[in-house]
Amino acid sequence: MAYKIVNQMNPSMYTYNAPYSMNPIEICIHNTANTATARNEVAYMNRTANYTSYHVAIDDKEAVQAIPFNRNAFAAGDGANGRGNRRAIHIEICYSLDGGNNGHQSARYLKAEENAALYTAHVLHQYGWGVDKVKKHQDYSGKYCPHVILANGKWQWFKNRVQAHLNAIKKGSAAPAKPVAKKPAKKTTAKPAAKPAKKASTKGKWTTNKYGTQYLKTSGTWVNGSEPVMTRFHSPFQSATQGGWARPGYKVNYTGMCRQDGHIWLEYTLDKGKTYKYIPVKTWNSKTGAVGKDWGSWK
Ligand SMILES: [Zn+2]
Repeated sequence: MAYKIVNQMNPSMYTYNAPYSMNPIEICIHNTANTATARNEVAYMNRTANYTSYHVAIDDKEAVQAIPFNRNAFAAGDGANGRGNRRAIHIEICYSLDGGNNGHQSARYLKAEENAALYTAHVLHQYGWGVDKVKKHQDYSGKYCPHVILANGKWQWFKNRVQAHLNAIKKGSAAPAKPVAKKPAKKTTAKPAAKPAKKASTKGKWTTNKYGTQYLKTSGTWVNGSEPVMTRFHSPFQSATQGGWARPGYKVNYTGMCRQDGHIWLEYTLDKGKTYKYIPVKTWNSKTGAVGKDWGSWK
C-alpha cells in the first residue's frame, strides 16, 4: 500500500458536515487548493461547522477519512439537494497549491495524486463500479476543480491511472499498477486512402550503459499525440527530474532512442548538447521486449 488509511471521523460534526444518510452512486475528485497535510485538512473540517465537507483527504502518505461513505458531504457546490452533495463520495487531493494556482506540480503533490488514483480504484472496486463513476468537481457546479489536474490537462490521464489500478486490483495483484507517464494516445479513425504511418527508424546497433539503459543512436522528428507527456532531465527514468509537460503536438528533434524503465524514450538536447532531455513515447516491456502503441507520430 502506498499510503496509510487513517480514521479521523468525528460524528459530533455530522449535524453540520454530513446531515443526510447517503447511498452513493459515484466518486467526485477535488484538489484542496491548499498546502496542508490530509490530517490538517480534516482537523480543520472537524472544528469548522460551515457546511463544507468531504469524505476523504489524501496526501503523499495518508488517506484520512472524515465522513463515512453512507453519509453525505457538502463539497460539490450544487446545492443542498444536488446530486454531488447528496450522492457522491468526495475525495480531496492535498498540496495542490504547492506551485500556486498555475498548475505547477510539486513532488509531494504528484505522490498524493497517485495515491488518490489508487484509493479511488479501491473504492470503485468496493462498490463494483467502473471508472465511468469517477467525476470531477467541475462536472457538478462548473468550479475549476481539481485545479492542478485541469491546468495540466491531466483529467483523462488521471482516470487512466485509476483504470490501471482497478485492473491490477481485479487481477488480484498485491502491488499497485506501475505508474506510466501517460496512457497511449487515443485511437483515431483510420482514413482508408491515407498512406501508412511512418515508423521510427531502429536500424543500427543498440548498446547498454552502466545504468542498464539500452541506447541507439538515431535521429528524426517525433510529434506528440493528443495527451501531455512528462519529459525528464538527464536520464530516461520516471524518477528523473521533471522537464515539464510536452503538450499535444509538441515536436521533438531526437538524437537517440532508449529502452529503460518500462518505456521507449527519445533523447534530445535543449542547448546544442549541453542539456539532455528524455521523453517517453510508448511503453516497453523489459522482459518480453513488447512495445505499446505510439503516443505520437514519427516524421
Ligand atoms: Zn472541489
